[in-house]
Amino acid sequence: MNETLPGLDEDELGNQIQEIGRRAVSRLAVLTGAGISTASGLPDFRGPHGVWTYDPAREQDTHRKRYAADPSVRARLWRDLAASGMADARPGAAHRALARLRASIATQNVDGLHQAAGSPVDQVHELHGNLSMARRTQCRRPAPMVDALRAVRAGVGEPPCPACRTGRLRPDAVLFGEHPNRDVHGRAANAVRAAGLLLVIGTSLRVRPAADLCTAAIECGVGLVIVNAEPTPYDDVASVVLRGDVEVVVPQLVTALVAGGTPTR
Ligand SMILES: [Zn+2]
Repeated sequence: MNETLPGLDEDELGNQIQEIGRRAVSRLAVLTGAGISTASGLPDFRGPHGVWTYDPAREQDTHRKRYAADPSVRARLWRDLAASGMADARPGAAHRALARLRASIATQNVDGLHQAAGSPVDQVHELHGNLSMARRTQCRRPAPMVDALRAVRAGVGEPPCPACRTGRLRPDAVLFGEHPNRDVHGRAANAVRAAGLLLVIGTSLRVRPAADLCTAAIECGVGLVIVNAEPTPYDDVASVVLRGDVEVVVPQLVTALVAGGTPTR
């Protein structure tokens, strides 16, 4: 029952949201991507105005081999991080709406905004890590990201490890070519398989293994609802596709789900 409706008008969108709300689910799983954080002023990467759409070389900069091989790549990534505004970002309406629900939230984002909105830490599975910390490449101990970014803003290309001085810091998030934490992904996948519905929000679903969560949902007969401004490779197999502004659609969807009996926290 594919209901992909490009150019959906407001009434149709509202009807679809009400229809989803009527499917009372005791267990809800959510997968989010950069599209939920653009309203918080953070960049998206693969959308029509995404960082990597404009500058594909930038995407290659986040590959672990390029990062390891080239100090200028590392310095540029650190400069981008310092300029990203991540440290000052606040949760948006969609983050806050999702925090009302008792749901497992898997996220590709590294901005910590689900937790900042009030979603419990043990319900948020950060598939690509979190950028609140940096990591020392030599002694491997964590270091606060704010200190690293302060050094970058002061003109340091690649912040040094504050403990051993010989090592350099790297972001404590997953780079392309690195394996996401298997335990985190496993917990997210288990929650999807046990759910009655998987809500996918603001992701192009072009990065594995995050997109594999959709495959797991399909295989286990879990309903798949996609909210994204652009088409995704999973639209054809989704139960419903809501093509709209995440900040508008998600709060309405959450209200409808709660009215339909989906548990709140
Ligand atoms: Zn060190």
